[in-house]
Amino acid sequence: MKADIKLDAKIPEGPLAEKWDQYRFDLKLVNPANKKKFEIIVVGTGLAGASAAATLAELGYHVKNFCIQDSPRRAHSIAAQGGINAAKNYANDGDSVWRLFYDTIKGGDFRAREANVYRLAQVSCNIIDHCVAQGIPFARDYGGFLDNRSFGGAQVSRTFYAKGQTGQQLLLGAYSALMRQVSTGMVKMFPRREMMDLVLVDGKARGIVARNLISGEIETYEAHAVVLATGGYGNVFNLSTNAMASNVTAAFRAYKKGAYFANPCFTQIHPTCIPVHGTFQSKLTLMSESLRNDGRVWVPIKPGDKRLPGDIPESERDYYLENKYPSFGNLVPRDVASRNAKEQCDKGKGVGETGLAVYLDFTDAIKRDGKNVIAGKYGNLFEMYEKITGDNPYKTPMMIYPAVHYAMGGLWVDYNLMSTIPGLFVLGEANFSDHGANRLGASALMQGLADGYFVIPYTIGGYLAETTFSNVSASDSKEFKQGIEKVQKKIDKLLSVNGKRTVSEFHRELGLILWEHCGMSRNEEGLIKALSMVKALRHEFWKNVYVPGKGKDLNQSLENAGRVADFLEFGELMIIDAMARKESCGCHFNTAFQTEENEARRDDENFCHVAAWEYTGDDQKPNFHKESLVFENVELSQRSYK
Ligand SMILES: Cc1cc2nc3c(=O)[nH]c(=O)nc-3n(C[C@H](O)[C@H](O)[C@H](O)COP(=O)(O)OP(=O)(O)OC[C@H]3O[C@@H](n4cnc5c(N)ncnc54)[C@H](O)[C@@H]3O)c2cc1C
Repeated sequence: MKADIKLDAKIPEGPLAEKWDQYRFDLKLVNPANKKKFEIIVVGTGLAGASAAATLAELGYHVKNFCIQDSPRRAHSIAAQGGINAAKNYANDGDSVWRLFYDTIKGGDFRAREANVYRLAQVSCNIIDHCVAQGIPFARDYGGFLDNRSFGGAQVSRTFYAKGQTGQQLLLGAYSALMRQVSTGMVKMFPRREMMDLVLVDGKARGIVARNLISGEIETYEAHAVVLATGGYGNVFNLSTNAMASNVTAAFRAYKKGAYFANPCFTQIHPTCIPVHGTFQSKLTLMSESLRNDGRVWVPIKPGDKRLPGDIPESERDYYLENKYPSFGNLVPRDVASRNAKEQCDKGKGVGETGLAVYLDFTDAIKRDGKNVIAGKYGNLFEMYEKITGDNPYKTPMMIYPAVHYAMGGLWVDYNLMSTIPGLFVLGEANFSDHGANRLGASALMQGLADGYFVIPYTIGGYLAETTFSNVSASDSKEFKQGIEKVQKKIDKLLSVNGKRTVSEFHRELGLILWEHCGMSRNEEGLIKALSMVKALRHEFWKNVYVPGKGKDLNQSLENAGRVADFLEFGELMIIDAMARKESCGCHFNTAFQTEENEARRDDENFCHVAAWEYTGDDQKPNFHKESLVFENVELSQRSYK
């Protein structure tokens, strides 16, 4: 393994609390007249992409904004339920920028950059003001003030929410800002386009190749910088809580063009999802972490106890999170809650038909606060649960089990959110930046909006002001023509295999391998096995996949085939990353490295770093690069939520 290049994260000097202010002052500016001369491509219209596109246009840049969906407002962000964190301390319960920073660093098991996380905590307060000004209908208390609730890994209430539809409301705000810029002509929208490749000119990101998903035409677009806000790769596991269209394609193809991929094995498994109920299921449903504010998690004490929950007396129940972690109780971070649920089920205490579920029980909360209060907080989530399972959670406990939910890994970016390709910026879930080895609940929306509204508008200016650009034309330059040829060749290849197995079959098999060996817990032997299984599956895919239809047409099978082809390659990268990290941290739980109490045991001497992988060619081992993490402000310690 090589560790030859020192990745420069460009972390500013100076005291932690002053870094961002000083850095913004030091960054070169583009004057208002010159901004009009620059074009920026933003791929993605989720919270990160829409907020970036709207803000950059507001500043005076010309923006081209792309998304897969028919409308920017259908991006996956719309699904976000529980809330968004901010260090406002409105609850007056001891919160502060420092505490949000510390909770995030600790929650991520000390595998995130201090400077980025502190900046995130600082701008979290601006996000709420901005969104309130946009008219986001955050929940309010009796007196009319913004209300807060708690999320995992925190002992304060700092989560702002709009019932169980926070993502939807925030996205509508960003979308309104975006549409305003569309109407002024500063943003040109390109819905139903899928980015298939990144185009580099003189080593800089200068454009993209996209497929028009309606006509099947391959199109090219040029710009002075490209911003990827293409979301997370959780669907590599096939079953996840992510939207069906969430994928790794844009990020992975940028990786193949020289952008390093950081910590790909860091995937969040969320503890409270509706359990899998059949082989041909295509999607899993999240039950928001906010429910753990009031819901109590338990299993029967006796393994194999098949009585109905109401028939099991208190004395025969194990509220295992409350018992094991009295300080944080049901609101321990997600990695901890998930592992504990798995442990209970592995001991035979799981409930429901499959035994792969635990109870989330609202009986006490309803008794204490009344049904109306509980319905006011979680009504839409309860309805969703009942529609899917047929059970009424006001009357009987929910049954929940962990499921793949979020990607902490992503393209490596520096403090400017720029990847290792000059001019390629990466925002939101698509980058690896702020959550270390485990993201705290309600922090993804915060990060996506911080990146889009408050970070990229400054840092991209620094890049544009300092860079000289040659003239390029998407219709004439050779780099774009080569891009079209490459993309067309891949599409032709997919359509010509004409094999016997569907894309979904391959995806399902890939997901099962990864879930089993690179999911909630991992070990050396399983990872070695998984690597060869995924390799073999990938080879079979290219010999035996069947993709119906034509390229120059609306063809969802073809879209899906391209995404699964990338997942197959990406799956190998995840496994390689997991094998290289010989420690446990956050979501990466290698059974060989655990404390006596079965918690993750880090190895700070050898693994206190970000692992960034460089593509070296198909079927070649990627190069390993290490960004050492330096902790100057917090002390590394064994996480404890007891
Ligand atoms: C069910 C659920 C509930 C959640 N609840 C919360 C919560 O309460 N609080 C919280 O903080 N987080 C929550 N999260 C996480 C959070 O929603 C996401 O991390 C966040 O919304 C991601 O935003 P994004 O802008 O980075 O990407 P996304 O919203 O995923 O947007 C990606 C965009 O990129 C586009 N795109 C992707 N690939 C391409 C391509 N190749 N070409 C063109 N366009 C492309 C898509 O069309 C889309 O517009 C939740 C996640 C799930 C699954």
